[in-house]
Amino acid sequence: MKREHVIKPVLNHHYPTIAYGKGVFLYDDQGKAYIDGCSGAVTAGIGHGVPDIVDAMLEQANKVSFVYRSQFTSEPGEKLAEKLSDLAPGNDYWSFFVNSGSEATETAMKIAIQHWQEQGRHGKNKVISRRMSYHGITLGALSMSGHVLRRRRFIPLLEDFPVVATPYCYRCPLGKTSPNCQLACADDLATAIKRIGSEHIAAFIAEPIIGAAGGAIVPPNGYFQRIKAICEQNEILFIADEVMTGIARTGAMFAMEHYGVEPDLIALGKGMSAGYTPIAATLVKDRVMEPILKGSKSIMSGHTYSANPQSAAVSLAVLSYIEKHQLVSAAESKGQYLMGQLQQMADGILSIGDVRGQGMLLAIEFVADQTTKRPFPFGLGVTSRIIERAFQKGLLVYPAAGAVDGEGDAIIIAPPLVITEEEIDQLVGILEASIQEVIAEITP
Ligand code: PLP
Repeated sequence: MKREHVIKPVLNHHYPTIAYGKGVFLYDDQGKAYIDGCSGAVTAGIGHGVPDIVDAMLEQANKVSFVYRSQFTSEPGEKLAEKLSDLAPGNDYWSFFVNSGSEATETAMKIAIQHWQEQGRHGKNKVISRRMSYHGITLGALSMSGHVLRRRRFIPLLEDFPVVATPYCYRCPLGKTSPNCQLACADDLATAIKRIGSEHIAAFIAEPIIGAAGGAIVPPNGYFQRIKAICEQNEILFIADEVMTGIARTGAMFAMEHYGVEPDLIALGKGMSAGYTPIAATLVKDRVMEPILKGSKSIMSGHTYSANPQSAAVSLAVLSYIEKHQLVSAAESKGQYLMGQLQQMADGILSIGDVRGQGMLLAIEFVADQTTKRPFPFGLGVTSRIIERAFQKGLLVYPAAGAVDGEGDAIIIAPPLVITEEEIDQLVGILEASIQEVIAEITP
């Protein structure tokens, strides 16, 4: 056999070779079609092969693709930062451009710490996150993540940052039932702050809707309003990790709009360029920048490709495509249709415990017993079996397994926002067949 050179996610697995993509479909070099039911890694929000984006890409490439941020700024970079500020809740943000969601959250952490340092408050350097959370794979981002499976191997290298309760109403970690819970999960943050001392805490980070660490977990009403109030009362910055939820995915440009909350910092990635080129950003509110502007006037971070004009031009083109084709409202309306179809499908399948999410960020959680919500034994690999079966049948869905203390099975369904109802029906049909087959194989 020919030796391989690319280190792929699973080294003994065969990955088909991609040939091209069009709309919500991807085609491999054997001509097999796949419905992109999860926009890759919840990224390709506007679908594949959109000519407007390719045109914008070429136009910029014909001018200049790369300049170093310590030497030049660029028109696309300046325009993109202004556009993001106009779109973000409160409209008063600076942008620090990076290349991945992990860099965006880690930069947010660094800026939050610097914000306090500039005011002489050097002890404020911990970031609180939630038990079920994923904020990225670099060591700093992983230190702020509760994702058991992704942390496990590196625990000795990670900062021992505190974690608080997850607003996971389907399995409330505090044993409560919404809406009679008084938002005890949000108050868990206040309790942790009291225990640790706010003089040691720079920020609290949370995904508006939890993605990979649980599968489209939507918080109860009032949760983020309470969280923001607790952060303000204790002089702690609030970082919204909108890497997965940001840019139209949930039926709002930023998911935080659903809660009417203006975060101090926002991490963006994925949907910002819809996969056409790597770019991500940390958005920073004016008031967070203030002490830095008065103080050292420079943020101690950055990457070679930060703010490269090529990626900025692509991201601008993606944002204008989203506006031109009204994909924010499409995410809401088509998301409702998809949710309805998934719920209808779930009615006939005993192993589905929960169907949840918002807009076009939806998930299904699988259980061995609907009444007790007991998960399947993790060794059964229910999530990966369903994903593999769907893949064979030409449908891509995304894993969110390991949600319940490293156990539990869930998949994310998050197709491009341009998907039609007909394509949704096709997606749900393949998904149903895949789930039914796998469940029949594993249940006696
Ligand atoms: N934050 C969230 C909420 C994510 O879902 C992800 C990736 O899935 C990241 C951060 C990390 O982004 P990246 O994989 O681009 O580094």
